[in-house]
Amino acid sequence: MAYRFLDTSINYLKGVGPKRADLLKKEVDIRTFGDLIGYYPFRYIDRSKFHEVSDINSDLAFVQLRGEIISAQMLGHGRGSRLVAVLRDETGEIELVWFKGIQWIKNKLKAKVDYIVFGKPTYFNGKYNIPHPEIEIATEYNLAVSETLQPYYSSSEKLKAKGFNSKGFTKVMKTLTSDPRLQIPENLSKDVIDHFGLISREEALINIHFPINQEMLRKANTRLKFEELFFIQLRLIKHKIIRSIEVKGYKFPLIGDYFNHFYHQNLSFELTGAQKKVIKEIRYDVGSGKQMNRLLQGDVGSGKTLVALMTMLMALDNGFQACMMAPTEILAIQHHESVSQMLSGLDISVELLTGSTKTSQRKFIHDGLESGSLKILIGTHALIEEKVRFKNLGIVVIDEQHRFGVAQRANLWKKSTLPPHILVMTATPIPRTLAMTLFGDLDVSVIDELPPDRKPVKTYHYKDSSRLRVFGFIKKQIESGQQVFIVYPLINESEKLDLKDLMDGYESIVRAFPLPKYAVSIVHGQLKSADKDFEMQRFIKGETEIMVATTVIEVGVDIPNASVMIIENAERFGLSQLHQLRGRVGRGADQSYCILMTGDKMTIEAQKRIDTLVRTTDGFEIAEVDLRLRGPGDIQGTQQSGIIPLKLADIVRDEKLLKYARDMALKIVEEDPSLRLNKNKPLADYLDEIDKFQTNWGKIS
Ligand code: ADP
Ligand code: MG
Repeated sequence: MAYRFLDTSINYLKGVGPKRADLLKKEVDIRTFGDLIGYYPFRYIDRSKFHEVSDINSDLAFVQLRGEIISAQMLGHGRGSRLVAVLRDETGEIELVWFKGIQWIKNKLKAKVDYIVFGKPTYFNGKYNIPHPEIEIATEYNLAVSETLQPYYSSSEKLKAKGFNSKGFTKVMKTLTSDPRLQIPENLSKDVIDHFGLISREEALINIHFPINQEMLRKANTRLKFEELFFIQLRLIKHKIIRSIEVKGYKFPLIGDYFNHFYHQNLSFELTGAQKKVIKEIRYDVGSGKQMNRLLQGDVGSGKTLVALMTMLMALDNGFQACMMAPTEILAIQHHESVSQMLSGLDISVELLTGSTKTSQRKFIHDGLESGSLKILIGTHALIEEKVRFKNLGIVVIDEQHRFGVAQRANLWKKSTLPPHILVMTATPIPRTLAMTLFGDLDVSVIDELPPDRKPVKTYHYKDSSRLRVFGFIKKQIESGQQVFIVYPLINESEKLDLKDLMDGYESIVRAFPLPKYAVSIVHGQLKSADKDFEMQRFIKGETEIMVATTVIEVGVDIPNASVMIIENAERFGLSQLHQLRGRVGRGADQSYCILMTGDKMTIEAQKRIDTLVRTTDGFEIAEVDLRLRGPGDIQGTQQSGIIPLKLADIVRDEKLLKYARDMALKIVEEDPSLRLNKNKPLADYLDEIDKFQTNWGKIS
């Protein structure tokens, strides 16, 4: 009810009208009064500040000057005609230029009067001028400019053409915020507001557009940032707690023969402490009668897949089936092979389903799944096709989930009567703040310990000029029986160019490492998948010593004998990608190396990425640096999918606020999971309100 005024269509705002309303919808997704008021300025210009003519430089987006007009002349003809006036203050002179309405302006200009001039200086013909400035007689100034902090709104070319430049937005925003019917319902409870000493929502929204001073702008910002972070957390935590109350999951009370046999007979090494801890956490979840939703984070090679396999055995011991989904076919194949191998001696059927599975085999798999004779299915996206139906799917393991859309994760729910337990694995460590925001409704387990036989990869940075030395090093490694990856970046702009870089590199490698002494494999995205697999297999079997590749080998492929990773043009890779690539080596017992090759010149950011990688192998530390360098929007494809609805808050800069918001949300939901208490009504109403508009947000997990 209370939200009705804000729900009014933007068509009905004075000064908008149907045509411009359409444009607002199309260009900036403003449909209602509420949307408009949620369209925040991206900066403010402080009109209480004055500049001097001699101060003007290209760093200043806007200047405000005070001085006399000492001349005004019409110049040019026809379309080229313009009015050029010269403003003088104590420090110098600057031209003011108008191209439109020039006669009218000229007639208004007075001599020997102080003017306040405001505009954007541009540099032209060796000097500055100000085109189309705002100009006001100084004695009238205070009346004309009532705000000291003027909002600036971003706009599009099309909007600007219809009068919606920053000024146009300011005007309609003024109309809206001064409408006597405007009533902005409070969406936080009194408890929360009092606890943090926040200003009201109405005050905040008005001041974010028209701040009465810096102090109020700051308060408005804090209030609105808090709100953004708080409602994300509230929704996630509420979701999680309600689910844990309401959603039943399959109960696996038994640790049975499969698990025990595997643990005692098949496992040739001791589990790490971290693996044991995580298995305990999972065991608790799947024994609780609630549905598990757990995110398993751990660096490449930390033994996540093993943990996942043991979890699947828990399901099997209790009469359930299990499946495991990988982001690529190569990975699915590899999982299938290693799982089959690890389970040798156990009577468990494991099959592989991918896009290239033959029809007859598909039919066999479908039948096995429906009858229950097939216990473990490993595959790609193909697993979530409509035709794939399990008799009793108990657990789904998802590897490298960031490659699967959120919607797909939700899709898996439909496969059985109760939702299966879900274990999401990722080797891309996610910084805590981001994990909270993206996966705040999942439980998180971390394997923060590598198996004891692992030696950290030694990482070095070389410039292209040291290539010969690097080749010498490669030769030594090969002589001692090791294999080498050489990776080239993929830069999507032009596949052809990428391929050329790769082929050039390949040729120079083949020249430096000629047959018959050496054999070099090459794998890239343009190869048919059968050829790709063939080359991969040659390398895996040790028939070739060097694998030249694009980033197709990025995720998961396990080749313990490869101990050297050379990354060409390393300055072009992102930090987490470099970390992933480096994780391809260091899987066997030998000392491994990662060599980052770059050109002589690099951007500061690239240098930081390289330095970070040379300094540490700790995936979480690397992820933190990455988040800081790139900003949260760019991580894990969240920007494209718009998953994090944050306009003002930034999970890096506002980490503290995020933590406060989360703690508060937790406290509230623990006391009142459905938000039925009267004091929490504003919270419940607002969640309903945003649920109406953000359907995709509601579908997560
Ligand atoms: P991840 O999936 O985290 O990359 P994997 O489960 O594939 O890691 O394990 C990587 C390699 O380490 C595998 O060959 C696996 O058998 C081995 N491994 C896993 N756990 C241990 C352990 N506790 N001790 C020794 N080796 C282990
Ligand atoms: Mg793995």
